[in-house]
Amino acid sequence: MTAPAPTTTIFETMSRLAQETGAINLGQGFPDMPEPPELLAAAAEALLQRSNQYPPMRGLPALRQALVGWYARHQGLPLSEEEVLVTSGATEALAAAILALVQPRDEVILVQPLYDAYLPLVRRAGGLVKLVHCRPPEWRLDPQDIADAISPRTRLLVLNTPNNPTGTCLDRSTLEAIGALCQQHDITLLCDEVWEATLVDGSEHLSALHIPSLRDRTVKVGSAGKIFSLTGWKVGWAIAAPALAQKIAAQHQFLTFTTATPLQHGVAQGLNLPEDWFVTHRQRYAQAKARLVRGLQQAGYVVLPNSGTWFVSVDLAASGLPVDDAQLAQDLVREAGVAAVPVSAFYADTPETGYLRLCFAKGDEVLDEAVARLARYR
Ligand code: PMP
Ligand code: GLN
Repeated sequence: MTAPAPTTTIFETMSRLAQETGAINLGQGFPDMPEPPELLAAAAEALLQRSNQYPPMRGLPALRQALVGWYARHQGLPLSEEEVLVTSGATEALAAAILALVQPRDEVILVQPLYDAYLPLVRRAGGLVKLVHCRPPEWRLDPQDIADAISPRTRLLVLNTPNNPTGTCLDRSTLEAIGALCQQHDITLLCDEVWEATLVDGSEHLSALHIPSLRDRTVKVGSAGKIFSLTGWKVGWAIAAPALAQKIAAQHQFLTFTTATPLQHGVAQGLNLPEDWFVTHRQRYAQAKARLVRGLQQAGYVVLPNSGTWFVSVDLAASGLPVDDAQLAQDLVREAGVAAVPVSAFYADTPETGYLRLCFAKGDEVLDEAVARLARYR
C-alpha cells in the first residue's frame, strides 16, 4: 500500500490565514523577539570571509566540537565528536533517522499528541504506526501504554520531550521504565529534544541520553532554531552512539549532504557564548510567557501549566468556550484577529479536542494586543 500524500501542515495553514486576515500570529512557533546579534555577526563574518563552500558531510568540525562542549556544560552529557551529525534542521535529522532505522513493515510507536513530521516520515519509510496516547490535562505518558503497544515487529519508539504542543517533559522514572522496555525488546529510541533549552519553570532538561539503558540505543535530535530563536536557519543535529550515527549519516548524505556553511559557523560561535547569555535569553522568554498567561487569565481563560517550548494551551471547557478547537481556531482568526493552533491537529486518530495552543515568543506589545483582542472575543 502506498503512503497517503501529506496534507498542508496546520502551521502553514494558520500562518497563511493570519497573513490573509491580518491577524496576530500566535499559531506557528517562531519568535519575533530581537535576534541574537552575536550569531548574526559570526555568520555574516563567515559569509564575507568566503566560508561558502561545502563543509564536511557530518558538519563543520568547529560546530561539532561546540556541540560537544555545550552539552557537557549545559546538560552534563559527555559526548564525542563522532556521535554528532549536523543536519538541515531537526526535521532532516528526524527524516534521516527514520529512513535509517525503519524498514518496510517494521512497527514504530508514536505518542499522541504528536508533532506533525513523525507520522508521514514513518509511513514514507514503509513503517507501520502504533499510536499511544497521553491524556490531558497532565498529558502524562504511562510506560504501561508503551509496553502494551510493543510487538515482536517493533523497531522504533519516537518521543518528544519537552513536548510540542503540550510543553510537558518526561521525568526520570518514565524514561527509565521506557529504557527497560527498549532494552528488553531491542527497540531504538528517537528522542526529539529540540525544545531542551526552553524550560522556564526552573527545572532542568533531562535527556534520554542520561538514562544508562538508553545511552547507546537513542538518537537525540536538537535544533539551533530553538536554542537561539533562529528558526529560519534550519541548523539541527542528531546525536547517537557512533554505529547509530554512522547509519543516520549514510541517509543524510543523500537527503541534503550538508547544511549552509556560514550558518554552521554562526551556531558554533553561539554555542560557545558564556552561560549568562543563555540565562538572560531564557529570562526574556520566561517574562513573555508570564505576560501572556497573566493576560489570558485576567481575561477569563484557563491556561494549563507546563514547563517548556514557546507555547501554552488554553483549556476551552474550563474557560467556558466551545470545545471544538479546530472550529474555534477558525473563528478566532477571523473574528478576534488572533491565530492559534488547535491541539486536535496533533492527532492521527480520534483527537483530543478542547485545547488551543498559543505561542508566547513575541514582543510585549504584540502579546498585549493579542490578549486585548481575545478578551473582547469572550
Ligand atoms: N521537532 C519538534 C517537536 C518541533 O517543534 C520542531 C519545530 N517546531 C522541529 C522538530 C523542527 O525543527 P527544525 O526547524 O530545526 O527543523
Ligand atoms: N514546530 C513549529 C511549531 O510547532 C512549526 C514548524 C513548521 O512550521 N513546520 O509551530
